[in-house]
Amino acid sequence: MSSGRPFRVRWLGRVRYRDALALQQGLFADSADDHLLLLEHHPVYTLGVRATTEHLLAPPEEVGADLERADRGGDITFHGPGQLVGYPLLHLPGKRGGGMADTVDYVRSVEGLVIDVCRELGLADVGRLDPYPGVWVRPDGPDPRKVAAIGVRLSRGRTMHGFALNVDPDLSFFDRMVPCGITGYGVTSLAAEGVDVSMREVVDRVAGRAARIWAQGPVDRADVAWRRTDVEGDADVAAFTRGEGPGEPPPVERKPDWMKVRLDTGPEYRRLKGLMRGQSLVTVCEEAGCPNIFDCWNDGTATFMINGERCTRACGFCLVDTRRPEATDPGEPVRVADAVAEMGLAHAVVTAVARDDLPDGGAAEFVATIRAIRAANPGTAVEVLIPDCKGDPESLALVFDARPDVLNHNLETVARLQRTVRPSASYARSLSVLARAKAAGLTTKSSLIVGLGETDDEIDGALADFAGVGCDIVTIGQYLRPTTNHLPVERWVEPATFDRWKQEGERLGIPHVESGPLVRSSYHARQAAEAVGVASAVPVTLAATPA
Ligand code: SF4
Repeated sequence: MSSGRPFRVRWLGRVRYRDALALQQGLFADSADDHLLLLEHHPVYTLGVRATTEHLLAPPEEVGADLERADRGGDITFHGPGQLVGYPLLHLPGKRGGGMADTVDYVRSVEGLVIDVCRELGLADVGRLDPYPGVWVRPDGPDPRKVAAIGVRLSRGRTMHGFALNVDPDLSFFDRMVPCGITGYGVTSLAAEGVDVSMREVVDRVAGRAARIWAQGPVDRADVAWRRTDVEGDADVAAFTRGEGPGEPPPVERKPDWMKVRLDTGPEYRRLKGLMRGQSLVTVCEEAGCPNIFDCWNDGTATFMINGERCTRACGFCLVDTRRPEATDPGEPVRVADAVAEMGLAHAVVTAVARDDLPDGGAAEFVATIRAIRAANPGTAVEVLIPDCKGDPESLALVFDARPDVLNHNLETVARLQRTVRPSASYARSLSVLARAKAAGLTTKSSLIVGLGETDDEIDGALADFAGVGCDIVTIGQYLRPTTNHLPVERWVEPATFDRWKQEGERLGIPHVESGPLVRSSYHARQAAEAVGVASAVPVTLAATPA
């Protein structure tokens, strides 16, 4: 295989349409690679750019479906569970204009892919029904019916959107619209045509065939976890995530030397401790038991945690209180700003637990804190490490519009381990948050924790996805097990491997990678921000001794 453009195939599981669209737009804008996103959507009706709702026969909300506008050609279509959606994001060789001829050629290649896969699966009488786009069963027969819709966008030789193949969806959703605005024809599925096949098998065949026809270089595939059938219920997540609370401190396991830290409660450390208590402030440094607390606090930096200590999620690696969250504290933003002033911080980092109990996920408190810090400390750079706000565009835009100097949102682990490590979050959603922030013109940052069972290659794949959505800063650090109810440490990654990931990430186009056993998301946050041009107007005063 030529060393041409990598072809990155991602099975992303069930993804909300708006998250997938933001991810597509991010990869379209920033990636030099080719991608094929394969997924199922939550129920949604989508309208092409020129479509009207005249072909929508009943309110989507009646069946719990969304209605979204899409920047693609074509009329109305439905996406939902049991339907394989594929978004090829390709650089079509030799195609510059994206004229009608190019678009027709490309649509033909997408139809060809789906037709060949259907035939491989045993659906012989399948093909095109001119002049209609899509893939049809018995196209020449008395009652052609559509098994796959095609809706693409081609501009400057780049492709977006793609196909939707009905594997085994609830076909009653299609009765609530005139599919693709085409009257007089029905809609079917592989299952309805007697082809009993799993989504996974269809994904494997589509991925294999797509690589054969579109890959110009090495193929790299990563899948979010397929629902495991060999384990009961949610035995594949940590006891902590199952709501059994924190366990005992883990047995003292022989940590490698490079994981040992010197406990140094120096004068600056003690001053900060006093300041945090005096201001009734919470830091993730203390809450998460961060190994770098002595290093950072003696360096006069800390990461503030707003919106309380109680999280509405329970990720398998995180030492957090999961009792019912309390009301947010309107006085907290000013207290954080005062502490930043007292510490003379050049770079302030603010994070929070996930607050899915709040309509905006806690976004408004981030905005208030950014504004308060800026009001009291005009020159201080502000970095916010935010939860995904359930991907809600309005809540995210609230934070983006406050123009933080660095917008940080953690991916935490590789696609395959998302369900085990952070079941309330998702790979596609987190990448879409980063893509949206980038599209809003912000400096973006994210983080990976290793030693949770991932392979080195999977980390390379995640780094490529960060580069694909234009992420500016990535941190990679070793997982430490908080309690026996949290996920076990699967391996101690060697320092040399961290060094290789730094080189690989920067080779892939990520401007700055901070990678090391003790690295954490906001470790050396100021230095990492400066490395990508985010400068603070506040001179750095190391270990400023109290007056
Ligand atoms: S969402 Fe964040 S704070 Fe909550 S459990 Fe997960 S990692 Fe911890």
